[in-house]
Amino acid sequence: ALAATMTACGSSTKTVDAKASSSAAAGNAGAMIGVTMPTKSSERWIHDGDNVKQQLEKLGYKVDLQYAENDIPTQANQIENQITKGAKLLIIASIDGTAITSQLQQAADNKIPVIAYDRLIRNSPNVDYYATFDNFKVGVQQATSLLKGLGVEDGKKGPFNVELFAGSPDDNNATFFWNGAMSVLKPKIDDGTLKVASGQTDFKQAAILRWDPATAQKRMEDILTKTYTGGKKVDGVLSPYDGLSIGILSALKSSGYGKPYPIVTGQDAELQSVKSIIADEQYSTIFKDTRKLAEQTVKMADSVLKGQKPEVNNEKDYDNGNKVVPSYLLDPVIVDKSNYKEIIIGSNYYTEDQLK
Ligand code: BGC
Repeated sequence: ALAATMTACGSSTKTVDAKASSSAAAGNAGAMIGVTMPTKSSERWIHDGDNVKQQLEKLGYKVDLQYAENDIPTQANQIENQITKGAKLLIIASIDGTAITSQLQQAADNKIPVIAYDRLIRNSPNVDYYATFDNFKVGVQQATSLLKGLGVEDGKKGPFNVELFAGSPDDNNATFFWNGAMSVLKPKIDDGTLKVASGQTDFKQAAILRWDPATAQKRMEDILTKTYTGGKKVDGVLSPYDGLSIGILSALKSSGYGKPYPIVTGQDAELQSVKSIIADEQYSTIFKDTRKLAEQTVKMADSVLKGQKPEVNNEKDYDNGNKVVPSYLLDPVIVDKSNYKEIIIGSNYYTEDQLK
């Protein structure tokens, strides 16, 4: 199924203007580009890596693509190796956004430009550009979808019991997702529409290191055991990533919840999770078209290697603690059962068959 998925997701490469090797006419003809991705344990990064590689190769570049299975030293080594092997540009989706400062210094010393991919690299002056989705908006959309699922958008007053999950604290995106979500949920908590029955409303309490589904499952189980006793029920869960949503739903199932399930959000439109939405388990996800992110990043890389200024659309929101990194933000889209056909199948992200 995964191979089939990848085919569908790779199919947009035709939208890239294939100027083939002419783009590399200058000194960087056929240059090698180092691409590092966090892990293969989540499908989205497989799509990202494949799409970036294919699209760069279409422009005549060589690509060294590496995955680090969420191990920080492994990723640092991979970047060092790429520098040693003569990479002319690095595209990095970091595991810990603060842990590769010395590798980036090494890149700068060798005049190798760096593009942060999806996740901002923090505390370093040696990050040239950033390509991502509007991460604050992702959080706003997750919260909006939670309220829609609960019926608050249709005027239901609650109070609803909800629990909140956040992503990995070393991933800059996790804070953006959380802040976006809380900008919508906090007023509803304050006016009593929503109750966080566990009392765990801080990012630190909600955060799940390395986005690990098993950790999320364990946290949900603990909350259910401690807080949801004597017939008290959870109505909704803010989950920032499909992998965590799977863990959360497992915890709910094993403590006796069934259809209709509490409203559980997500992110990434991973195959299993879109199937779960169709099966009325997970309520929604956020679709971030990895084909488009790859396309934008490849355009950036190509411009930089040709000595041109790449296209950016945000030069204020992404301060990495050292500088504001010029960024290109793409638009995320809420997907639930009402629109998955149009958005997911309609864009050929997955075929109808893959979702059976
Ligand atoms: C990405 C999300 C993803 C999460 C876990 C974040 O940095 O932006 O799309 O769900 O990492 O892999």
